[in-house]
Amino acid sequence: MIDSARLNLPEFARGSVWLVGAGPGDPGLLSALALHALDHADTLVYDALVDSRILALARPGAALEFAGKRGGRPSPRQPDISARLVRLAQQGQRVLRLKGGDPCVFGRGGEEALALAAAGVPFRIVPGITAGIGGLAYAGIPLTHRDLGSAVTFVTGHDRVGSVPETVDWTAIAKGSPVIVMYMALPHLARIARRLIAAGRAPDEPVAIISKATTTAQRVVTAPLAEAAARAAAAGIEAPTIVVIGQVVRLRDALDWLGAGGAP
Ligand code: SAH
Repeated sequence: MIDSARLNLPEFARGSVWLVGAGPGDPGLLSALALHALDHADTLVYDALVDSRILALARPGAALEFAGKRGGRPSPRQPDISARLVRLAQQGQRVLRLKGGDPCVFGRGGEEALALAAAGVPFRIVPGITAGIGGLAYAGIPLTHRDLGSAVTFVTGHDRVGSVPETVDWTAIAKGSPVIVMYMALPHLARIARRLIAAGRAPDEPVAIISKATTTAQRVVTAPLAEAAARAAAAGIEAPTIVVIGQVVRLRDALDWLGAGGAP
């Protein structure tokens, strides 16, 4: 798909694994290295959040293995996925481990890389555009703005067992981070909002909920913090979603380049 010699891209060697971020959905957001990997991989091991338009870019003849949740069934155990990557590489394959967004942003890329390193399998990490960056851009919300604060927090709203993570210091985030970008947060948004408000955030602070960001089904709902969970539910917003809290959300009124509710 691309001229890898002109771009001076590295060889995808047999017996190695590339951990590649596929971005949030729009195939146009793939990196040149990701396209190069799609051109050369023997086997793709991919997650549920990888857009089908991106899988369709795999080299004809490449094997596609799904490693995510399907039809309510539990996802394969992480050690099993890591062991599978090691085994495929040891068979001499070029293994493309394709993950939604960035592989190392709430994506367990680090765990897989550690397993590869421990097994002595050569690997490369190819960053992708994380949903918390790409989703905001496609919603017309600048992640930072000099007049509206100078810190951003990326946080998960979901721990290993599906609860609001107790390891997250919500009070510190409420006080120290003018912009909060939350992954996997929609199911617990009402509780998280109450905690942030209790820690001093204004109940009317603007929130954007970006569903299926950068895909053809992207939807954005904005609401005041205190009402955000109820508004998202009323609008029938579906996962996956990125939730953004902060005054930067107001800029969407002027910057929604996709058009109200429009999809790319
Ligand atoms: N590695 C991924 C995140 C994986 S965790 C990344 O960097 O983007 C899964 C969470 O990511 C989802 O619950 C959701 O919060 C977010 N997410 C991933 N893709 C998304 C998309 N297209 N639109 C909105 N949220 C998305």
